[in-house]
Amino acid sequence: MKFTQPRLPYSIDALQPVISPTTIDYHYGKHEKAYIDNLNTLIEGTEYEDMALEKIICESDGKIFNNASQAWNHIFYFFQFSPNGLKDPAGALHDKIVETFGSVDEFKKKFEEAGATLFGSGWVWLSADDKGDLYITQGKDAENPMTKGLRPILVFDVWEHAYYLDYQNRRAEYLHKLWDIVDWGIVSSRYE
Ligand code: MN
Repeated sequence: MKFTQPRLPYSIDALQPVISPTTIDYHYGKHEKAYIDNLNTLIEGTEYEDMALEKIICESDGKIFNNASQAWNHIFYFFQFSPNGLKDPAGALHDKIVETFGSVDEFKKKFEEAGATLFGSGWVWLSADDKGDLYITQGKDAENPMTKGLRPILVFDVWEHAYYLDYQNRRAEYLHKLWDIVDWGIVSSRYE
């Protein structure tokens, strides 16, 4: 099975000024496409050839893991944004965020801190365990919490390629601005 890159559900200029069309062109159009192309080449003729992407992530390592996880992580990242989505967490996710972190603002602050303090390249994740308990975790490089049995709910990309064209070295500012385009309708439905 060949993996294909899904079309983004918004136009290339829809997320500005938070994410510019140039960044989307490079980040989704080139970086993400390369992970998918590499993965397709690497799995050809292997036991992973007909496996679901999530299963490859949980069962592989090395180059195949890196490309599979990066392919999945970027789709998860880009598909949680919208220029006119729900502005606050809803339903069960809202209640659990308040219960766990004290308030939505406190949660956002902790999430931004985790992203700002991750050394090098990686991702900051909000995930849930089997009981619905929430965790903020830092993932190095291509890490994905599903390999530890957690269900991803929200992710911010803190690789430099995610923000350098628009924010240069100002990673904290990039993280803070991302809240303006997070569609909490999509993110809350991942927790249901
Ligand atoms: Mn990226």
